[in-house]
Amino acid sequence: MIKRINLRKSNVARSKTIRDINRQIILNYIREEGPISRADIARVTALQRSTISLIVDELSELGLVQESYGESSGGRPPRLLSLKTAEAISIGIDLGKKDTIVGTCDLSGRLLEHKEFPTSSNAAKTIDRIIETANYFIERNNGSIEGIGLSVPGLVEAWDGKLVKIPHLEWHEPDLAKKIQDATGLQVRMENDTNAVALAELWLGRPEISNVRDFIVVFIHKGIGTGVVFDGQIYRGKDGVAGEFGHMTIGQNAPIKCSGGNDDCWEAFASERAAMARYLENAGESAKKDLDFNQLINLAQNDDSHAIKALKDTAKYIGLGISNLIQGLSPELTIVAGSIVKAWPLVSEEIIEAADAGLCQGFPAVKVMPSTLGKYPSLMGAFSLVLADKFSSISTG
Ligand SMILES: [Zn+2]
Repeated sequence: MIKRINLRKSNVARSKTIRDINRQIILNYIREEGPISRADIARVTALQRSTISLIVDELSELGLVQESYGESSGGRPPRLLSLKTAEAISIGIDLGKKDTIVGTCDLSGRLLEHKEFPTSSNAAKTIDRIIETANYFIERNNGSIEGIGLSVPGLVEAWDGKLVKIPHLEWHEPDLAKKIQDATGLQVRMENDTNAVALAELWLGRPEISNVRDFIVVFIHKGIGTGVVFDGQIYRGKDGVAGEFGHMTIGQNAPIKCSGGNDDCWEAFASERAAMARYLENAGESAKKDLDFNQLINLAQNDDSHAIKALKDTAKYIGLGISNLIQGLSPELTIVAGSIVKAWPLVSEEIIEAADAGLCQGFPAVKVMPSTLGKYPSLMGAFSLVLADKFSSISTG
């Protein structure tokens, strides 16, 4: 529970009174455990019943929680509290290198609606489309949208929110977030896609992930992104660009070149593009033309031996890179995200075995899990930027 409050530690320490903190504790407890009774909250938080009632009244007035009646076990049915959901509260924008998704979610992070369109190499065109779609959702939801989260497949400067660069996409849009903010009138929080996914694991992931304080997210896509969470917070490093493990050297003569043009980096061995290159090489003449990575997974699931081998070989390199991260950072958990998760039964053994084998002296213990964020991890990441802000700074003033 405490980590939610610590998420933006300095702000919290400066502006929060005890009552604000209690309000956050109760709200987060309802978010995670609801529907739940006041008595249960009192038992777990050790707060006075009267304090809880006061705060619950405030949260209801703010439109954040709602009450319903549970099953009666003879006497009066218990009154249960849950988050007031189904109303769109946030817009998420997942700017991908191939496609862009703009969607809405409710207070619990549930995806309500979304629209998807190809990302153009013409930045202005794509930005116009993003703004148009965001404004459509804003209008449609009659003022319930409170903020916009923006996930980008590139480097974001933490201090002034400028977009530094997007590999593979020749955009020069340092003020991307500000442009969207000015055109929609809503605050836009921008974050690197893998950091956003890490935040989503923290806020929306299953309990065994969201209760962990130190973990690493390895996001496999056209490249490889890594997000490092230390003590319940994203580790950003100087200028906010930490975590570029996709470019650590792990071999020679990889099947492709990384976004920086090298053939010895992790992403040149273990990204979706590397798996595709292996498939084309394995299958030779018989290779299916114009496949994308999801279709490669489909082929493997339909017992295509070349596709299976390409995925398993790539999985070994995913595991090898993970072993380096574990060796150096000793996280409680490493989470693999991206489309590769759909092929988890096919690749998990190779990933975990390689991660294990790569560790000297066999420690620390390897714990690798697939992400459970579903089909749109970085869109969930975009949502969690707004939700994290909201749940860590609820205040009635
Ligand atoms: Zn590289």
